Amino acid sequence: MKRSGFLKRKTPMSRGKGFSVKRKALPKQSKVSVAKIQRDLWVECRRIVRSRYKDCYTCPAKDLVGSNAHTGHGPWAKAAIGAYLKYDLRCLRLQCYACNVHRSGMSYEFGKNLLKEIGPEAMAQLEADRQVSVKAVDHYASLLEQYRRL
Ligand SMILES: [Zn+2]
Repeated sequence: MKRSGFLKRKTPMSRGKGFSVKRKALPKQSKVSVAKIQRDLWVECRRIVRSRYKDCYTCPAKDLVGSNAHTGHGPWAKAAIGAYLKYDLRCLRLQCYACNVHRSGMSYEFGKNLLKEIGPEAMAQLEADRQVSVKAVDHYASLLEQYRRL
């Protein structure tokens, strides 16, 4: 006899009359709340970065204040950093407006200075962490909780 394999498996419909295919919509994280977590997270990142650094990370500009004090991403462009590292403090430093905006974040200088700051081992770890994939919203929520205590 020919075996029909997976075709014989029970489907939900075969569970009996009492079974309803109607399902309540699962409570979904709305896009609004993900955006809100990201906004709040960014506020924390900016606060922490401003409390730790005063000068531009990638040029000689000193004592950055106001709209000249940007929180910049590196050593890769922000768009090239996945959810796991996007709000990672290892990738965030204070930059002047010119470096962050006009000079596109000065990724090369950023990387050079970061290597000097954290050393080759931590740099290799950071590089490896770039491959880590996470569920963004969960990761952001846990970072937010963690950063609020910093
Ligand atoms: Zn600068």
